Amino acid sequence: MIDELAIRLKARQFMAGLDLSNIDKDLTVYTRKVNAKLTTEEMSPGESGYTLTRRDGKSSIVVNELERRERQRFSACHEVGHLVLGLASNHQETPAWSYAKRDDNEIACDIFASELLMPFDAFKRDVDQDQPSFELIERLRSKYVVSFAACASRLAAVTDYPCAFVFMNATVVRYASRSKALRDLNAWVEMRSPIPPGSVAHRLVQEGEWSGEDSRVAQDVWFRDWPNGYDLTEMAKHYPTFEETFSLLWFEPDGGPDEPVKVWSGSVAQEDDGGLQELDGVLSFQKKTKKR
Ligand SMILES: [Zn+2]
Repeated sequence: MIDELAIRLKARQFMAGLDLSNIDKDLTVYTRKVNAKLTTEEMSPGESGYTLTRRDGKSSIVVNELERRERQRFSACHEVGHLVLGLASNHQETPAWSYAKRDDNEIACDIFASELLMPFDAFKRDVDQDQPSFELIERLRSKYVVSFAACASRLAAVTDYPCAFVFMNATVVRYASRSKALRDLNAWVEMRSPIPPGSVAHRLVQEGEWSGEDSRVAQDVWFRDWPNGYDLTEMAKHYPTFEETFSLLWFEPDGGPDEPVKVWSGSVAQEDDGGLQELDGVLSFQKKTKKR
């Protein structure tokens, strides 16, 4: 079991006092602090990076130059995480959403990396400028130079809105990141379940459309055991080629319930469905994950 909060705090301690004004272009401020040099080389598809530490304590962090820039940056910060947290690597090829198979150390370093790339105070300030939207995600991802999924999942996690980012592959819900306000309302998105009928995402997949928005999606469509009664806004994007669908869900101000919803399955002792874990920034499962 990963202590997410402890990892985030360690990342923030690590960042304290550093000049972060240039991290969208240059991550040296981080690599220097762990006495490492960042280099790139061509690696096989699916490999993202590794670290070599010499006997004198100096390290080389190597990332795959064939991957996209956002991905290389994520890999570099992930490797810094290995060094700071003192966690061994277990870099096997597993799909990004496959947390069940992913090593705890790897998830921990992903969490660490997302803190480094999207420093909490600055990112939160930017998120608070506007209500959740794909435009806001696009704006922030280009500012912080991170992948769409990494940005969206962090946006949903830090916004004051009751908000969730849901990632779906083929017809199945794979991952959700929820804001504190939404978790406090007892809103649970069911993992590994079919994309719910009645959602915008479901319609896009059915009709092969690319994007859609609806400000009147009944809340019980998405949240486990919720009563009907409030509408939420859902914006969804669907990429038929990759069989990937993303939804952003949120309640408008004063749009959702005031009190936590009593769900029959209770609010305690449930395994968190995603608030604890973040996507590592890559959604790299194209045809190979397709079952035949
Ligand atoms: Zn790793």
